[in-house]
Amino acid sequence: MPLDPARTVADLKELRELTGDENGAQRVAWTETWERAREWLREKLGGLPLEDQIDEAGNQWWTLRGASDRAVLIGGHIDSVPNGGWLDGALNVVAGVEVVRRLAGDGEPAATVRLVNWADEEGARFGRSLFGSSAAAGSMADQDELRERRDSEGVSLPDAVGAYGVDLDRALEARSQLDGAAAYLELHIEQGPVLESLGLPLGVVLGTFGVERHQVTFRGQAAHAGSTPMDKRRDALAGAAKLELEIREIAARVGGGAVCTMGGVVTRPGIVTSVVETAECLLDQRHLDAHQLAEMLSNAEAASRRFAREEDVEVEWDRIWNIEPILFDSELIELADESIREVAGTSHWLPSGPLHDAAEVSRAGIPTVMLFVQSLRGLSHTKLEDTKDEHLELSVQALERLAAKTIERL
Ligand SMILES: [Zn+2]
Repeated sequence: MPLDPARTVADLKELRELTGDENGAQRVAWTETWERAREWLREKLGGLPLEDQIDEAGNQWWTLRGASDRAVLIGGHIDSVPNGGWLDGALNVVAGVEVVRRLAGDGEPAATVRLVNWADEEGARFGRSLFGSSAAAGSMADQDELRERRDSEGVSLPDAVGAYGVDLDRALEARSQLDGAAAYLELHIEQGPVLESLGLPLGVVLGTFGVERHQVTFRGQAAHAGSTPMDKRRDALAGAAKLELEIREIAARVGGGAVCTMGGVVTRPGIVTSVVETAECLLDQRHLDAHQLAEMLSNAEAASRRFAREEDVEVEWDRIWNIEPILFDSELIELADESIREVAGTSHWLPSGPLHDAAEVSRAGIPTVMLFVQSLRGLSHTKLEDTKDEHLELSVQALERLAAKTIERL
């Protein structure tokens, strides 16, 4: 059976009609609309020689048995944020349907092929992203905290997932799903502006950025705005302002795709008649290379101490969260690059700023790679999220090539 990439686009539009409204996609995990999307997916795969099951973490699996038990996994997530885009997550799953359909049409493949729809990638309702994939990867270590989480209506996470057959205490048993997994492939929209700015439809993802997230607090002295001469001030905001401008220089110096963001500054007392006593800054730094990320962090720390001295204030750093960069498999990166060049002529290698389920699978030691397809205007998590139909079709072709090449290599 030949691959029919146009069918993927038509299916995605059907899903958009079924689970979206005038504000965008509404497939928030652990809701009726999400369940409707899962049921729709089951129907799309009905009639194919697949085993289907839902694991202990709510992930949906379809297995096409091959000559070998070693499995190539293709995965995505059908859940969305509220008022989300039609493609984020769903593209990977629906393209995977077409690839599995095509492989099943050729009889028994040389390796087992499994399609997975990860549960609650977005974490939109309870603020816990990558729920299903972290359970399967064995990295979910926050069950005690998850037990306490509630949504905005006061419903607890265990009750919400329980309504869909998931017992939080048993979610980690989903780990057995990765037994025998030899490769994990994920196609996703880029959700950024890089491929569009290069005029390219597709790119190979090298890995996901490491992140260092800190609160940086400058402390000076509140003093009257009228009676305190300029040279007698200990202005905490002056230190923060200098740091905000310096992080851009640091990112430019370190290079290699480095990004830094000061996402918030809260000043106290925060009144027009007082010099700022404390300025609490939220700083996010990201890089694909662990050493360069560490260098960015130490440069920013050193700069903040210099500015503190210059302004006669104090500075203190508190880590909010961090994660190491996750690098994808070099052999699969080569196969992905070949696949893209075959269908689109030119390929491009780029890192991923956002985390994806692929990062969890890769952390579990499964060789992993992702393909990105161009996003129009770089927009995602909004109803404005879009990709040209022709690029979506090319992405399905590239995923199919990549799956075939991966099966051949096993
Ligand atoms: Zn996604």
